[in-house]
Amino acid sequence: MSASTIESALLKFKSSIPSYVDLVAVSKTKPNEDILLAYNAGQRIFGENKIQDLVLKQETLPKDIEWHFIGHLQTNKVKYIAPFVSLIHAIDSIKLLREINKRAKQNERTIDCLLQVKIAQEDSKFGIYPDELEGFITSNEVKSLSNISINGLMGMASNTKNDVQLKSEFGQLNLLYNRIKISNPAFQTLSMGMSGDYRLAIDEGSNMIRVGSSIFGARNYSK
Ligand SMILES: *Cc1c(COP(=O)(O)O)cnc(C)c1O
Repeated sequence: MSASTIESALLKFKSSIPSYVDLVAVSKTKPNEDILLAYNAGQRIFGENKIQDLVLKQETLPKDIEWHFIGHLQTNKVKYIAPFVSLIHAIDSIKLLREINKRAKQNERTIDCLLQVKIAQEDSKFGIYPDELEGFITSNEVKSLSNISINGLMGMASNTKNDVQLKSEFGQLNLLYNRIKISNPAFQTLSMGMSGDYRLAIDEGSNMIRVGSSIFGARNYSK
C-alpha cells in the first residue's frame, strides 16, 4: 500500500473502534517502511508471528514500540524475544510457560502472557481446551512461576463467514474470561478479533484486537 493509504487506513480503523479496545497492528511480512508509516500516525503496538522477523524489526525500529508475539511460540526460541517482548499472546502449554519464566528471570523482568484457548471447531487451531483452562491456571506450578503474569486470554475463531458460529465461539471465550477474572485480579485482556471478524469480537467482549490486512493491505507470502 502507498504511504498515505496505510496512514489513512489506520486512522480510519482507529476511529471505528471503541477507545477501550487496544489495537495490535499485525505487521507480519510487512517491511519496516510500512511499520514506520503506522508508527508516525501514532500506532505503538505491533504484532509479529515469526521470531527472526520480530528480532530484526525490534533492533531497527523505534524503541518505544510495544512488540507483541502473536504466533505459535517454540520453546527453544523464547530466549531471543525475552529481553524486550511486551506481551506473548498464544501460550498453550506449561512447558512453554516454564521456559518464558526462566528467560524472564534471566532478564530480570516479568513477561506478560495470554493463554490461547481453543474455541474454533477446526483442528488446525492451537490452544488449551476450555475445560482444561481453570485447572491449568490454578495449578500449583503455574502459580509458582514468579516472572510471568497471566493477563488474560486469546482466541481465534473458525475461518468462516457464519456470524452465528463466530458469535458463539467469541461468546464462549468471553464467558470463560469473565469467570476466571473473578478470582484473578491480573486478568485484564481478552484478545480476540482480526480483520474479518473484529466487530463481532468486540460485540462479544473483546478489548484487544489483532488487525493486519485491514491496515497494511493483503499479505504477499511469495515475496
Ligand atoms: C495474521 C494474524 C492476525 C491478523 O490477521 P488479519 O486477517 O490480517 O487481520 C491476527 N492474529 C493472528 C494470530 C495472526 O496470525
